[in-house]
Amino acid sequence: VPNESVSAEELLARPPTPEAGVLRVSEIFESLQGEGPSVGSPCLFLRLALCNLSCDWCDTAYSWDLRRFARQEVVHDFPLADIVSRIVRSRRRRVVITGGEPLLQQPALGDLLRDLPPSLYLEVETNGTLLPTPELAARIDQWNVSPKLSNSGQALERRLVPAALERLRGTGRAWLKLVVGSDADLAEASQLLDALHWPRDRVYMMPLADNAQELGIRSRWLADACVRMDLRFSPRLHVDLWRGERGR
Ligand code: SF4
Repeated sequence: VPNESVSAEELLARPPTPEAGVLRVSEIFESLQGEGPSVGSPCLFLRLALCNLSCDWCDTAYSWDLRRFARQEVVHDFPLADIVSRIVRSRRRRVVITGGEPLLQQPALGDLLRDLPPSLYLEVETNGTLLPTPELAARIDQWNVSPKLSNSGQALERRLVPAALERLRGTGRAWLKLVVGSDADLAEASQLLDALHWPRDRVYMMPLADNAQELGIRSRWLADACVRMDLRFSPRLHVDLWRGERGR
């Protein structure tokens, strides 16, 4: 039943708590990576349920928002063995673990990774507010870290956790993705990069847009800004090609 007001942490802790060997999953599907350093690469997406933020413009609210979606639509408890089997059967060499916020479920996620073939290339998409365990930090091949700006509507202390961002940057395998929609966002993003001492050649700027028409307009604006600011531009294939269709 929608309108359940509960934090992701509370939901993970309350009965029925996920048993050992279970992950709370939103969806599993095959597609192309739509953003960031490996854009265009075929991959399997493992989207974990629940998030510790509630960004105003979130395009995957169905994976966490229990006020808008019924719980049985948001959360599916999957035994780890079933997820391993699905990944192995897909024969994809690249797995993108996303959310929601996947680092909310690190103990079970760590168990899953131990059971996966070591040759798999693993990406994690995170909002950068939670510290990864050393084990996870060492195993993940690529961290796509997307700290949120004030355009997300989230309070500063919730959306920016410097210790977590520092740990992720320290892996040497982390890229930043910043979602911007205005000149004010660009100025805020630039200040954030300076404050974090994040290498600018490991940053992607992405246009804020929830439909293809808006994406086209914002992409042209942002492309010019990226040239001016000497920063990388990231397309958003899932909006451009599939209009944000779920499971693509
Ligand atoms: S952190 Fe990501 S998944 Fe969570 S609410 Fe924000 S945009 Fe959505």
